[in-house]
Amino acid sequence: MADKRQITVATGDGIGPEIMEATLHILEQAGAEIEPEFIDVGEKVYLTGNSTGIPQEAWDSLRRTKVLLKAPITTPQGGGYKSLNVTIRTAMGLYANVRPCVSYHPVIENKHPEMDLVIVRENEEDLYSGIEHQQTPDVVQSLKLISRPGSERIIRHAFEYARQNNRKKVSCLVKDNIMKLSDGLFHQVFKEIAAEYPDIESNSYIVDIGMARIADSPEEFDVIVTLNLYGDIASDIAAQIAGSVGLAGSANIGDEIAMFEAIHGSAPDIAGKGIANPSGLLHGAIMMLVHIGQPEAAEKIHNAWLKTIEDGMLTGDMAKGKEAVGTKEFAHAVVERL
Ligand code: NAD
Repeated sequence: MADKRQITVATGDGIGPEIMEATLHILEQAGAEIEPEFIDVGEKVYLTGNSTGIPQEAWDSLRRTKVLLKAPITTPQGGGYKSLNVTIRTAMGLYANVRPCVSYHPVIENKHPEMDLVIVRENEEDLYSGIEHQQTPDVVQSLKLISRPGSERIIRHAFEYARQNNRKKVSCLVKDNIMKLSDGLFHQVFKEIAAEYPDIESNSYIVDIGMARIADSPEEFDVIVTLNLYGDIASDIAAQIAGSVGLAGSANIGDEIAMFEAIHGSAPDIAGKGIANPSGLLHGAIMMLVHIGQPEAAEKIHNAWLKTIEDGMLTGDMAKGKEAVGTKEFAHAVVERL
């Protein structure tokens, strides 16, 4: 038997602890060879007076294990502390955010049974650099940073992902009719790198019509590569069209360290009710198992998850008015089908 692989685990805020417990239970029962090392980050750390929200032990653990499985973290809107998600992604150089959004129709009803797309979102630059200035009491400025090396890295990642996963097309979303320099640079780099991959079809959309097409005909897309903000928005739209924001997982990949999570947030409106869907985090964990070289466990869990939803065991967000099960019941149903 292989040695257990240490992973760092953050249980998060809101529904985080509930869906993490369910996810770890499934991983353990599936025989995944992992040894979780728990860290505290987020709201509870701020409340103890730590202004960064990430204690030194958490950074140490992450640098040692090089893999973080993270439940969603609450970030206040408007004022308050900075997003920890953004801090972790930039501090650890997690430049690629890979978010598959797949249809499970008719088990989880949606209007696009053929939908099977992957969003590859640039994860460090753009308006998320957090460089904001108060110029006068009534005027603020946010800086949008786009670099050639950052664009090359994410676009190459998207084409390599397409090649390795037998995907046929990479589409680029930009707004270079308005932001001619920043989005223009990203688009220019896209065209240059696309020329290096003649085996893969490529095309580009202005982001507004591109998003409209994702909403109307998501089955036309295969791999989408885009800037940080557009990718954030597009992936929530795509996950919701596929059935629920509670479904999609996300891999944040860097050269050395990687973080795996659900795409959704901490859902404070349903926290503590035992009804949250653990599937998004579970899908993140499945990507983590592949990343750490345990594809058999990943496949076993994914098959059991598919069987569970096919048998009609669905949390409320997936059931859409039909009979629903709670978080724990859902996790037990997956375990029964391993
Ligand atoms: P959200 O994704 O938390 O919730 C949006 C809606 O989807 C809510 O109605 C919620 O109940 C529902 N939902 C989300 N996940 C679900 C699940 N697993 N099962 C069932 N229903 C689910 O978005 P929000 O309310 O805008 O954000 C809440 C907090 O989460 C904010 O503080 C935000 O900053 C944070 N956030 C964190 C992350 C992250 O940690 N990666 C990502 C996005 C938002």
